[in-house]
Amino acid sequence: MICIPIIASTMEDALKDTEEASSVADCVELRLDCIKKPDLRLLLERCTKPVIVTNRPVREGGMFDGSEEDRVALLKLALELQVDYVDIEHDSRDRVQCSPESKTKLIVSYHNFRETPDNLMDIYRKLRQSHADIIKIVTYARSITDNIRIYQLLQEGMGTTPIISFCMGEYGNISRILYKIFGSYLTFASLRSGKESAPGQINIHEMLNVYQIRRHNKQTSVYGLIGNPVSHSISPIIHNTLFTEMGFNNVYVPFKVDVIDDFIKEFKKLDIKGYSVTIPHKESVISCLDGMDPLAEKIGAVNTIVNKNGRLFGFNTDCEAAIRTLESVDQASDEEVKTHGGLCGKRVAILGAGGVARAIAFGLKGRGSQVTIFNRNDERSRLLANEADCDSGKLCDLPARQIDILINATPVGMFPGVNETPVDKNILKPNMIVFDTIYNPKETKLLRDARDKGCITIGGMPMFVHQAAAQFKLWTGKTPPLEVIGKIAYKGLPA
Ligand code: NAP
Repeated sequence: MICIPIIASTMEDALKDTEEASSVADCVELRLDCIKKPDLRLLLERCTKPVIVTNRPVREGGMFDGSEEDRVALLKLALELQVDYVDIEHDSRDRVQCSPESKTKLIVSYHNFRETPDNLMDIYRKLRQSHADIIKIVTYARSITDNIRIYQLLQEGMGTTPIISFCMGEYGNISRILYKIFGSYLTFASLRSGKESAPGQINIHEMLNVYQIRRHNKQTSVYGLIGNPVSHSISPIIHNTLFTEMGFNNVYVPFKVDVIDDFIKEFKKLDIKGYSVTIPHKESVISCLDGMDPLAEKIGAVNTIVNKNGRLFGFNTDCEAAIRTLESVDQASDEEVKTHGGLCGKRVAILGAGGVARAIAFGLKGRGSQVTIFNRNDERSRLLANEADCDSGKLCDLPARQIDILINATPVGMFPGVNETPVDKNILKPNMIVFDTIYNPKETKLLRDARDKGCITIGGMPMFVHQAAAQFKLWTGKTPPLEVIGKIAYKGLPA
């Protein structure tokens, strides 16, 4: 069940929002504590879906700052009116009695806006003694692994009193999205951005259109993106759309991860079927894996993980994706472009020495290109040059170099730093191929400068499309149509 809380300060707004929420949600929570002079009867008339009545005091993260008598009086009225659910805070449970004949279900709730406390199971056991029809435990996630503790709580409670439980905050997003897989009675979604009743609440449109949560069930397999940050990623919209269109009962979610070892160890409990890996974990994740594809091992960076019967194997789809992107320049109809045919013997300058630079350096060496690595940290560029059997250079020497292909494999120029560029415009020469691996924005400052200088420019999106398609194939065995991925990806980016 998806429940939309009504967060409005006036009755006029509350009535409008209640009508709108009734048309999309399975259930509506009337947050009486937010409304000045709430008229419960009128609100109930407008609501066509089951209703939770809540009158949350300030001490539990709500807005009601009047007397406890006045607060509880509104909840008693809700019971008299036989609303579907009344939410009563755990420390006020004794103040509200529900007759055995009442149709109303009592939700006894505990909220913690600071953390997911160590004594979570004690809190749960205490709430079980409260004769609740439904137990609600909502905590704040300070780390992604707090979600696993909520999952274990829900598993422990399976088959007994129904439980609503999830984590607040950005780290807790996945417990909201995966509520059916976790086993929570319901999840909350805001009516729209700005109408959240708690930190980290996702809006209903994202829940329905990006994560497609209506089609999830207990058998849904979970995939996701490991990285930090992850909130800007367009991978969820791409993989979730492909899963639906190609008939897979799978879901793809973002995992904001700080400590990779803890994450991998704890999330084995959820049996995640596959991961994409992005900044900053492409190299550090390797020590947590059970096996590596030879190409990924050679490159020393993993952007895809496949779970084979509980064992995690690392792959690299960036390498082939970047090479295919560069080779596709060959197939362009423009005569000028055609003269650049083939990568063999081309003098290539790669900016950066991280995961993507590694993948491209090894890929281009395999095609016979003359590769030089330039990086802010010289030591790292020398190390990569040594491993990939190519050269390294100092950034200050770049202007004197003869370059056929310049590749940006750093985040310089990426959203939101869209006015930054990794190199001075003067080093760009007509007919040079300039490939920026950044895909957001679609055209970076580097590419704008390169276009001005008469270079052949390639954005990061074709590479992104190829690597996503290869990932999808590793997970499902099926090749998705590239044009579908491209269309979704371009739609998912800001104009
Ligand atoms: P990474 O492993 O963290 O490496 C980042 C590299 O960029 C490092 O060499 C780092 O230098 C350098 N760098 C970071 N900030 C810099 C700055 N302010 N100035 C100069 N150099 C800087 O990241 P990655 O996974 O390789 O990703 C790199 C970029 O590739 C991303 O930003 C993303 O836009 C792009 N990418 C594209 C695709 C695609 O499919 N199109 C896929 C993945 C990534 P130090 O060694 O000195 O720290």
